[in-house]
Amino acid sequence: MKYFVRLFTGLALFNLTLLAYAHPFPLLQSTDRPLGYYSGDPLPPKTIYLTFDDGPWEFTNEIVDILHEEGVRATFFMNSFDKDNPFHADTGKNLMFRFQRVLKKMVKDGDVIGDHTYSHQDLARLTPRQITFQLTLLQKQLAEVLGKDMPVLHLMRPPYGSPWLGHWNTPAQRQKVTKMLEGHYIVIMWTLGWDSADSINWAPGEWFESDSKRYHPSGSPGYKKKMEMEMNRILTRAVDGHSGVILMHDTHPTSRDILKKMIETLKSRGYHFATMDDYCKWRWGPRVFQHFSPL
Ligand SMILES: [Zn+2]
Repeated sequence: MKYFVRLFTGLALFNLTLLAYAHPFPLLQSTDRPLGYYSGDPLPPKTIYLTFDDGPWEFTNEIVDILHEEGVRATFFMNSFDKDNPFHADTGKNLMFRFQRVLKKMVKDGDVIGDHTYSHQDLARLTPRQITFQLTLLQKQLAEVLGKDMPVLHLMRPPYGSPWLGHWNTPAQRQKVTKMLEGHYIVIMWTLGWDSADSINWAPGEWFESDSKRYHPSGSPGYKKKMEMEMNRILTRAVDGHSGVILMHDTHPTSRDILKKMIETLKSRGYHFATMDDYCKWRWGPRVFQHFSPL
């Protein structure tokens, strides 16, 4: 008995010591990498995180409908520049109004919206002032469109995965961007290899085309080949319970056209789906977002 009392007291003291030395919430993962999900980080078993970049666009509405029908929630990392404008210039007009209905539906359905910058810029090459402009303009335009439904954007995905992906970035660039994002955004990359590669222009005419006559959901061999390739890239990886953060683009009709079959196949393999908000709460606790404030 005495032994147990001593053991119990010992454990209690040990726990108190842990509390006393508990590190404050780890806002900064390192000086050149903010808190976030990076490929190789832990994931819960049998979980698929669908993420769509670069929208909203012509195909977003149907993608959101398919997700809703399947009872699946996803995460959308958005840009708000005019995709018909090749210069990506700020025209002063808020083009997100064009997608107001689908944006509202997304929020209502429980899909999560993240910041992907105003005009898809490589953050490594911007000044701190330009980085702030890029991230806050997207927020401002979205808030105008969503009004009272506007969520606080806690998540961001840097365009091109830069400066954390690729060998072209310098430590100084990583430190610069880290300093800008710290305390404001959780960085969400994707699981390497789980990129559906939908942004590759395998089917001429379908990339970013707003004129619906110019893409071919059926009949074109190039289009069908692209759909098959995207599907295979994901389905060969989502086996044996391996989890992943999947990167797709709602700017590509192939993503819309494979989505239903892909979700149903993954469900039949025992997978379930979650948002990157769910991921953050799973990994850092339900109150994780309290530590972040908008830029
Ligand atoms: Zn992108």
